[in-house]
Amino acid sequence: MGRSGVATQALAAVDIALYDLKAKRAGLPLAKFLGSYRDSVKTYNTSGGFLNATLEEVKNRATRSIEEGIGGIKVKVGLPDSKEDLRRVAGIREHIGGDVPLMVDANQQWDRATALRMGRQLEEFNLVWIEEPLDAYDFEGHAHLAQVLDTPIATGEMLASVAEHKGLIAANGCDIIQPDAPRVGGITQFLRLAALADERGLGLAPHFAMEIHLHLAAAYPREPWVEHFDWLDPLFNERLETKDGRMIVPDRPGLGVTLSDQARAWTTESVEFGAQP
Ligand SMILES: [Mg+2]
Repeated sequence: MGRSGVATQALAAVDIALYDLKAKRAGLPLAKFLGSYRDSVKTYNTSGGFLNATLEEVKNRATRSIEEGIGGIKVKVGLPDSKEDLRRVAGIREHIGGDVPLMVDANQQWDRATALRMGRQLEEFNLVWIEEPLDAYDFEGHAHLAQVLDTPIATGEMLASVAEHKGLIAANGCDIIQPDAPRVGGITQFLRLAALADERGLGLAPHFAMEIHLHLAAAYPREPWVEHFDWLDPLFNERLETKDGRMIVPDRPGLGVTLSDQARAWTTESVEFGAQP
């Protein structure tokens, strides 16, 4: 089945569980077990700025996020009408003020010409990054944007293996790399590509799964970001603490999460493979 896709994601589940177990046996939070550089990581909210939300809703959610100690605000762009994107970004920048970190995420919606034009028009908003402006596999196009724009380019969430990330890194396709540990085969693979990214001087902002990536980001040498997403909250008994724009690494051993009763109800205790005659 190759070295990406569903086989790799299946391996990731086991790999991540084994790292959790290993750190627990050492009596350390996973971040410390890996040799962390910090006890908290800069965090930004991603789930308040989707395209289906009105500008007023995005503004209100941004205010709430900042009150909850989440420091950065990310909004989606890539509407059919680019002028509307710019109007929304201008509105949110004005609302949160110049000092709050702001990012945009195009989720691969632009072609090269649109991305360049939009990238130039977005420079005035002093964005932390522009995320996935182009097709995830257009490394050359991303590299061109990273070279000509002042605003850093972030991408990598869709890539499904270390080999694919190697291609992105070799092409100078981003300033900030956004690997997803469950998608690239787990923590073992994530650490391999994080070492390559550090070697090239790249920033790190892992994609989704903050419960895992908080630890991995804390163990990255350069100041990283972690994406705040509360979608997986129902799975776990614990909640991650955010304060003054940072997410605090829990001091519980391993990943520091236990499955909720709700999560247990969604799983079966045993599975039989293959029908026995
Ligand atoms: Mg994204």
